[in-house]
Amino acid sequence: MEMLYEGKAKKMYETEDPHVLRMEFKDDATAFNAEKRAQFENKGKLNKAITLLIYKMLEDKGLKTHLVADVDDINILVKKVEILMVEVIVRNAATGSMVKRTGVKEGLRFGKPIVEFSYKSDEHGDPLINDDYAREMGLATEEECAFLKQQALVVNEVLIEFFRKCGLDLIDFKIEFGRTAENGEIVLADEISPDTCRLWDLDTGRKMDKDRFRQDLGEVMESYAEVLERVRQASV
Ligand code: 5GP
Repeated sequence: MEMLYEGKAKKMYETEDPHVLRMEFKDDATAFNAEKRAQFENKGKLNKAITLLIYKMLEDKGLKTHLVADVDDINILVKKVEILMVEVIVRNAATGSMVKRTGVKEGLRFGKPIVEFSYKSDEHGDPLINDDYAREMGLATEEECAFLKQQALVVNEVLIEFFRKCGLDLIDFKIEFGRTAENGEIVLADEISPDTCRLWDLDTGRKMDKDRFRQDLGEVMESYAEVLERVRQASV
């Protein structure tokens, strides 16, 4: 079937069902708005397996996601959605772009999670925006922004508890939402993996996520494989 779209880490293909697409996870890795690029053998397999288990767990908790079915090593079936051009980031502790932007102390734990919106635009480097920007830029209505924030906080609660069972500390993550082609319902879309979450080992503080690639820490896929193993064990 025809490929509809190729992104930095995934390809989307049509299926026989007009409301369903096949999502293929690639081995490509990019960082810093694709200025840094690499390929990692098995990355597609690892992120696909982690995303699938996490989405199944979120569905079990009553959250609406784009997941339809498992296909093979690197593919899943997902609902066809129109992706909202707002990325939603939740932070439980300070690191990454927040520290760079504000000078807040690295690792500072927040009393309550911080929810951020960014405009999904490679051309503009995914800039930080707020709900007023989203409304006036036509990215999402006020009500939709409130829904995205509320959903993101629920996802955070569920993920914190799940990753704690994996011996992992969820520092922050990025999620995306889409409107289904079938009925316009807003559901969680894209992936949830060490590419999109910062996960630190609860005992040692070791980084187990894409920061190993961003910061040249080495053992990138070894860490993703360890995350998958722990996610598998916590899922049974
Ligand atoms: P930061 O804004 O500190 O760079 O990222 C915050 C969190 O969101 C991190 O877990 C990071 O991996 C995730 N994140 C933010 N933007 C993107 C993006 O464009 N792609 C991916 N894969 N993750 C992102």
